[in-house]
Amino acid sequence: MYKYCLECGWNLSTAEGYSEREVSERAIEHFVATGHTVESLRLPPPIAIEN
Ligand SMILES: [Zn+2]
Repeated sequence: MYKYCLECGWNLSTAEGYSEREVSERAIEHFVATGHTVESLRLPPPIAIEN
């Protein structure tokens, strides 16, 4: 799972070692803290893998 913010550079992926639950929780935390819209993808885009 890969989640990213539409309004700033925030993003988080299970490829970084987080569990899906942690990614979801942190996405919610980001939304609550900033009011930003967070989108999610099931698979990381290639650019995220390269980074
Ligand atoms: Zn944001």
